[in-house]
Amino acid sequence: MALDLANTVIFRGDPERSLDRFDDPVELPRFAEAAAIFRIGEWGKVQFHPPLSQKGIEALIGIREVINSLFRSAVREDSLKAEDLSTFLRLGSDLVCNEPEGRDLRLPNLSEKKRELSLGAAAFLSAMRLLDPARLERIKTCPNCYWLYFDESRNRSRRWCDMNVCGNRAKARRHYNRNVKQAGNNHV
Ligand SMILES: [Zn+2]
Repeated sequence: MALDLANTVIFRGDPERSLDRFDDPVELPRFAEAAAIFRIGEWGKVQFHPPLSQKGIEALIGIREVINSLFRSAVREDSLKAEDLSTFLRLGSDLVCNEPEGRDLRLPNLSEKKRELSLGAAAFLSAMRLLDPARLERIKTCPNCYWLYFDESRNRSRRWCDMNVCGNRAKARRHYNRNVKQAGNNHV
C-alpha cells in the first residue's frame, strides 16, 4: 500500500510526462477506496479515511514523498539514507499521533473486526513493514514506467511492475528496434 501511494505520481523519472494524481482532489477518496479493496489480504476489513483539510493533504503528500525517496534509494543504492529515514519516522510519528484514540494499528491484521485508519497513518505502517530486510530486497523499480513494486515471485525474477502492461510494451519496442535494424541492413 505504501508503494501504491508512492505510485500516485505517474512517470516520476520523466519531468515532461510526470503527473500527480492527487492534483485532482477526487482522486484521494478514490485511492482510499481502491486501497482497501486491493490490500484486504494485508489489512483485513478496513476503511481508509482520506484527508479532508489542506493540512491533512499536505501531511499525506509529505509521507508519500519520503516513502518514495526512501525506497527508491534503497533500490538504487542498496542502502537506507539517514536523512530519509529520519524524516519518514518524524512524519509517521505525527500521523500516528493524530489518529483518534482506540484505533488498532496492527499490520498485518488478521482479525475479522472491521476497523478504520487514516490513509497517511496506514501508509506509514505499511512502509514500516517493508523495512524488514526480507521485504526490502524485494522492492524494485519498473524500467518502463518507474513505478515502485514488490516482487513476490519465488526467485525474485520479476522485471516489470506488470508484465501485461510494461513487459509487453518493452517486448514490442525491442521487436520494433530489431526490425528497423534489419531493414537498415538490407539497404547496405
Ligand atoms: Zn511499469
